[in-house]
Amino acid sequence: MADLLEVKDLKRYFKTPGGDLHAVDGVNFTLKAGKTLGVVGESGCGKSTLGRVVLGLIEATDGTVLFEGKDITHLKPKKRREMCKEMQMIFQDPLASLNPRMCVEELIMDPMKIVRACRDKETMQKRVYELMDQVGLARRFAYSYPHELDGGRRQRIGIARALVLGPKFLVCDEPVSALDVSIQAQIINLLQDIQEESRLSYLFITHDMSVVKHISDDILVMYVGCMVEKSSSDDLFDHPLHPYTKGLLSAIPVPDIDVEKKRVLLQGELSSPINPKPGCRFAPRCPYAAEECRTRQPAFEEVLPDHFVACHKAREINQL
Ligand code: SF4
Ligand code: MG
Repeated sequence: MADLLEVKDLKRYFKTPGGDLHAVDGVNFTLKAGKTLGVVGESGCGKSTLGRVVLGLIEATDGTVLFEGKDITHLKPKKRREMCKEMQMIFQDPLASLNPRMCVEELIMDPMKIVRACRDKETMQKRVYELMDQVGLARRFAYSYPHELDGGRRQRIGIARALVLGPKFLVCDEPVSALDVSIQAQIINLLQDIQEESRLSYLFITHDMSVVKHISDDILVMYVGCMVEKSSSDDLFDHPLHPYTKGLLSAIPVPDIDVEKKRVLLQGELSSPINPKPGCRFAPRCPYAAEECRTRQPAFEEVLPDHFVACHKAREINQL
């Protein structure tokens, strides 16, 4: 199966008074049709910027994004607008991303008007109702406004808007983080159903390891702009190889005393992404850090089949 999306050595730096902020610093991945890549890491690790650079909402500093084999890294505005039909985004806070003066019907119709996908009101209305059915939003809400609806329903509007042009790829940026746990499960199930029906591919960005496990085929762990580990979701949860991933997984509450004892605690905070020091960016927090970790950046290597990690001591720590 060919790749739908291929991201090669993608970088995004921002100029700041203190120097270059390396928000995304050399990210590589591929994504096939109908699959989900989870991107995890603490807030500030560059995962949201990565999603926006892939979509072209933020210009890449370096690297390439290929969509169905075509280079879409630096498109002119007109071509970029055409790409909206193929690639869309679901946001964390639907209230902030929805125009408060538009009712549900107008909100879902809006993307069709922007790209002039359809001019005929009746056809557009029909499409709105189809989508409301698909995302589980009762038709009686068609003339409600975002503030009149709860968080779960607002996120259903966000999903309907993302789907209205029939995209193949969605960036989901923390789509359930603002929702109650019971509603989170409903939205995750909805995204999975939609994926099955339409063979959509997702880049699913979250800081929540328990959420990412259920939806992802593969997982990419980011730390201060860099990739630190990538594998299938099962491998990552069964045998995390990077000390940072072990720390993230240890933070998930488990009702098992033996597991409790083996927790790796993540202490301290992310180091600054501005003019990052040479060496491993996790070194200031890593219990295994040695001299070479502070001087030489670890390569991102395949340590087990299809299981990549950036750590000088991955083999030693994991007895491989
Ligand atoms: Fe820790 Fe060194 Fe591995 Fe970085 S390279 S994660 S500091 S052991
Ligand atoms: Mg974010």
